[in-house]
Amino acid sequence: MRKNIVAGNWKMNMTYQDGLALVSEITNMVADETLAANVEVVLAPPAPFLHSIGKLLVAGGPIHLGAQNCHQKESGAYTGEVSAKQLHSVGVEYVILGHSERRQYFREDDELLSQKLKAVLAAGLKPIFCIGESLETREADETFEYLAAQLQNGLFHLSNEEFAQVVVAYEPIWAIGTGKTATSQQAQEVHAFIREQIARAYDAEAALNTTILYGGSANAQNARELFSQPDVDGGLIGGASLKSRDFTEIIKSF
Ligand code: PEP
Repeated sequence: MRKNIVAGNWKMNMTYQDGLALVSEITNMVADETLAANVEVVLAPPAPFLHSIGKLLVAGGPIHLGAQNCHQKESGAYTGEVSAKQLHSVGVEYVILGHSERRQYFREDDELLSQKLKAVLAAGLKPIFCIGESLETREADETFEYLAAQLQNGLFHLSNEEFAQVVVAYEPIWAIGTGKTATSQQAQEVHAFIREQIARAYDAEAALNTTILYGGSANAQNARELFSQPDVDGGLIGGASLKSRDFTEIIKSF
C-alpha cells in the first residue's frame, strides 16, 4: 500500500546555520508529537547542506533526505553539477525532478528529465516527479490533456519495476509560491485523473501503490483538508517548509 509523504523543498533559501537550526527544531517537534505511523517526512535542503543534515537524521526514523536536482550523467567533466551517485553516497534517498522552476528557468524538457529519471533510479534513489499546468492552460480548459502528455512523455517510458520507485507530485504552477491553493476538490480531481493514467499505462496495482503529492501554497491551515482527499497522499511544501511550526503542523495533518 502506498505511503503518505510530506516533503519540504527549501529551494535556494537558508544559510547553513539557519538550516541546521530548522532541522533541529523539526526533529525535536517530530519526536515530541505523535506522528501518524504512515507518514514519511522528506527534507530537501540545498546541495551543500545535504551531508551534514543527513547526519542529523536518525537512521530508520521518520525523516528522510532529499535533493532538489541532479545531473543526468554518472560522473565526468560537468563543472558545477552533482550526480545521483554522489547524492546517494551522502545518504540522499529522494530527488525532486521536473519542478516547474527547473522546467522554466533551466529549460528542462521531457527528454532531459527522462535521462535524469534513469540516472536517479540507477543510483538506487527515488524520484519525486513534478507535473503541473499553468494558469493559461487551466483557463483554456486543457489541464487534463496537458498533464496526460507530461506523464506520457516524461514518466511512462519507465519499466514497471522502475515506476514502482516513483512518487508523483501534482504542482499547479499557478499555485506555487502565490498563496493561491488549489481547492481540495480541484486537487482530488487531478490526483484521481493521474491515478487513472497510471492504471492505463501500467496496471491497477501500480496506480493504487503510487504516492501522489499535492504542491502549491499548501500550509498549516489548508493541509488537513487537502490530505483528507482520497487520492492526495501528502504534500510537496515550499514556503511553509521553512518554518518549523508550520511544517510540523502540516506533517501532523493526516
Ligand atoms: C514548490 O515549489 O514545490 C511549492 C509547492 O512551493 P510553495 O509551497 O511555496 O507554493
